[in-house]
Amino acid sequence: MIRAKKSLGQNFLIDQNVINKIINVVEIKDKNILEIGPGTGNLTLEILRKNPKKVILIEKDTILSNLLEKKFQKNVEIINKDILKINENILCDRSLIVFGNLPYNISTEILSKWILNLNKNKVWFSYLVLMFQKEVADRIISKFDTKDYGRLSVLANWRLKIKKILDVNADCFRPKPRVDSTVLFFEPKKNFFEFKNPKNLEKITRIFFMHRRKMIKKPYRQLFNNDDNIATKMGIDLNLRPQNLNFETYYELTKKYEYL
Ligand code: SAH
Repeated sequence: MIRAKKSLGQNFLIDQNVINKIINVVEIKDKNILEIGPGTGNLTLEILRKNPKKVILIEKDTILSNLLEKKFQKNVEIINKDILKINENILCDRSLIVFGNLPYNISTEILSKWILNLNKNKVWFSYLVLMFQKEVADRIISKFDTKDYGRLSVLANWRLKIKKILDVNADCFRPKPRVDSTVLFFEPKKNFFEFKNPKNLEKITRIFFMHRRKMIKKPYRQLFNNDDNIATKMGIDLNLRPQNLNFETYYELTKKYEYL
């Protein structure tokens, strides 16, 4: 019997219906698959039944990693490492389809890191099918003028097309988590704003969204050296709140910031 470790966000998906819905989101046959945090291998088993070309598993927990070694052999490569310490860009020379019931304590960190490190031309994955805590998923898919809109949605929408697949009740996991979950589907965008350094988008959104209820005048002036010209030219009303600016405005502002 495996004892789930809270520190590693271990909530194993046990609902077969949900597992099937997740793996049926994309065609797996003959594809190269990466699974993050396979745990006891519930999802992995079904992925393998679909005859992928190859499956790479990244599992930080050594006990689970050893268990997976015994359970699966053919076409499976198990990496017993922390996903945050892996250079995802060199995992595979072919484009990967990524599945993951992510450990919730680091799910936004994983997604942000992947987005910020994406190459301009060659993206290392073709699709991501990822499970998040529902509140986090709501933030990722939120649009401007809504309460959930923020840094995460601006960052994610910069490089990714995002679609909600399904909500998953906490009862579908063992041990049962305190929150519900949501599966999201991501696809790289072909056209996107090019930045000198994507960290600048992170910086702009961090400073703008620092105080959600306050006007953007202050953060704007801090970033743009008290010069309101750029805002005027872009038609941005500095009395608005950060959630009132749409995605494109944040991307344009980042470009302008990079050419100050
Ligand atoms: N996919 C499985 C388990 C999900 S629980 C299922 O749905 O049943 C999250 C899994 O991520 C656990 O197996 C946990 O050990 C693993 N994990 C936690 N932190 C990790 C990290 N930093 N890198 C890789 N795996 C991690």
